Amino acid sequence: MVKSKRILVTGGAGFIGSHLCEKLLSYGNEVICLDNLHTGQKRNIKRFMDNPKFEFIRHDIIEDIRLEVDQIYNFACPASPVHYQSNPIYTLKTNIIGTSNMLGLAKRVGARILQASTSEVYGNPLEHPQKEEYWGNVNPIGIRSCYDEGKRTSETLCFDYHRAHSVDIRVIRIFNTYGPQMLENDGRVVSNFIVQALKGDDITIYGTGNQTRSFCYVSDLVEGIIKMMEQDGFIGPVNLGNDGEFTIKELAELVIRETNTKSKIVYKDLPSDDPTRRKPDLTLARNKLNYQIKVVLEEGIRKTIKYFEEIGHE
Ligand code: UDP
Repeated sequence: MVKSKRILVTGGAGFIGSHLCEKLLSYGNEVICLDNLHTGQKRNIKRFMDNPKFEFIRHDIIEDIRLEVDQIYNFACPASPVHYQSNPIYTLKTNIIGTSNMLGLAKRVGARILQASTSEVYGNPLEHPQKEEYWGNVNPIGIRSCYDEGKRTSETLCFDYHRAHSVDIRVIRIFNTYGPQMLENDGRVVSNFIVQALKGDDITIYGTGNQTRSFCYVSDLVEGIIKMMEQDGFIGPVNLGNDGEFTIKELAELVIRETNTKSKIVYKDLPSDDPTRRKPDLTLARNKLNYQIKVVLEEGIRKTIKYFEEIGHE
């Protein structure tokens, strides 16, 4: 059981952030959710808006803010390729100016700060599976660079604040995660396929569908995130996700089976810089955090389908 604290979650109305707020509240913590609602949604935090220990502040982390907190989870950033590419300069500013604002806040009030980084720091990886020591294969000037280089810079900022000012940092690298509260229209493969299947629309596979991803159900990820924040003597970076590897075609077939849809698969162009293979090496997370995966892909996909069916009827 985690001791009650005053915790700031930036991006707390987003997909992962809102699950994190919920879990932290369930442990009896006070949670301040900061979100500019750029891609976050009030719907995601509606269910705990009345909780006296929960507070929502509409704010953009690019602007400075002063708060008294014990811990900061920095999750504010558009995270799906469609959204982070729609305003790439803003994505970079969020990662660079926003993260340095949060690190400055952590320094001022002596809070521990956990930075949400990403598997995208490995770019289109030449090593497989990806270990934390791998420095990556990232295009610095492509359409994904605003996110990839932005997140790489946010990691650099964390480590420089740690070295220069002894800020108590934690850095996690999140691999593809899915589950309820994903945005319907953010273009991610799991939400796209499920929404297409439920509507009876074509299922759009980009490229051949032989590219791979490893999909983590959100509750497994959130447990790992909180374990990392609470862990003493280990700052990361650490990979968090699921190490089951599936082709995009296999995912499409699973969604078709589970929804019983009549939708057909259609093939579209592969976006540029789309990584060919991605799978985390989770050895470090297992050893240091006793990180465990509990939800297998079929079960997680079923729960996510149920969520999208329910919001379709709202
Ligand atoms: N993808 C796809 N169809 C879609 C959306 C995505 O085939 O409707 C592919 C995409 O090209 C990539 C993979 O699925 O190879 C995962 O895409 P996503 O945007 O979910 O996340 P990424 O891992 O690329 O950041």
